[in-house]
Amino acid sequence: MKNARLNRISRQLDWVNIVFLAVAHVAAAVGVGWAVVHFNPWTLVLALSWTVLCSLSITAGYHRLFAHRTYEAAAWVRLLALLFGAASVQNSALRWVNEHRLHHSNVDRDGDPYNINVGFLWAHIGWVLHKNPSTELKRVRDLKQDPLVIWQHRYYVPLAIGVGALVPMGIAALWGDALGGLLLAGFARLVWQYHATFATNSLAHSLGSRPYDRTTSARDSFFTALFTFGEGYHNFHHRFENDYRNGVRFWHFDPTKWLIFSLSRVGATRNLRRVAEEKIVRARLIAKGQQEPAQRPESAFAASSGGEPMLSPES
Ligand SMILES: [Zn+2]
Ligand SMILES: [Zn+2]
Repeated sequence: MKNARLNRISRQLDWVNIVFLAVAHVAAAVGVGWAVVHFNPWTLVLALSWTVLCSLSITAGYHRLFAHRTYEAAAWVRLLALLFGAASVQNSALRWVNEHRLHHSNVDRDGDPYNINVGFLWAHIGWVLHKNPSTELKRVRDLKQDPLVIWQHRYYVPLAIGVGALVPMGIAALWGDALGGLLLAGFARLVWQYHATFATNSLAHSLGSRPYDRTTSARDSFFTALFTFGEGYHNFHHRFENDYRNGVRFWHFDPTKWLIFSLSRVGATRNLRRVAEEKIVRARLIAKGQQEPAQRPESAFAASSGGEPMLSPES
């Protein structure tokens, strides 16, 4: 923990991120005020639609498809995830996945970019406000084979501005509320999304239970799942990272899982990977007897990509 704190201190502030986040928060607050004064139901519908599309592009797209390869998706699904993923202004899929795989393979240790042991605020937003000392894309060799991913990486900034701000502005201009479209569907949506994603790194490593693995900080919480489109079942996710579900039970609130499953019914996604039920039961039994910290399971992405052999495609 001490080393992690020292690493944080030695990292330089990232002024581009700091200024952008500050501007985004101010614009989001102005947007909320604008919505109260100039309420327009169509702008609200647009902002909610953008929130759903962008959030699912991060959870189902960047996270469960690109980072963990928990299923395969048709080109149009990948394209939509990349477009609305860019609009989420969380970096290109290549960079996002590279950092996320680092998180899984070094969780709670120095190499974890959002190590919760450095502190809750660090895991939530502090790490974004500092420059990342290692920007090499070493863990995404598999993704570099996807021309759509490479295209998004190359044109990330214009795509983020276009889909994240100009398109919602243009749509809202149809009913004469272009500024409302920018402030609400652009910035207020973006700030909400930031804190939902950040909460998966902070809250999901602090609040909840650990039924599958007590040796990491990752926790399952219905509360966190509620506003993260199902990412709150984080203990299960860290234990079985290549399963397309985070909320493993059918009643768990996991809209991302429901989307991936629904798309598979119409042939847009396929080879959904699920861990065998007996592995889940065994993990629960082992977790009951676990002391912390103890030996934790190796990440499937410790080296590069691949997958846990214990997982099998859905039948
Ligand atoms: Zn993950
Ligand atoms: Zn995590």
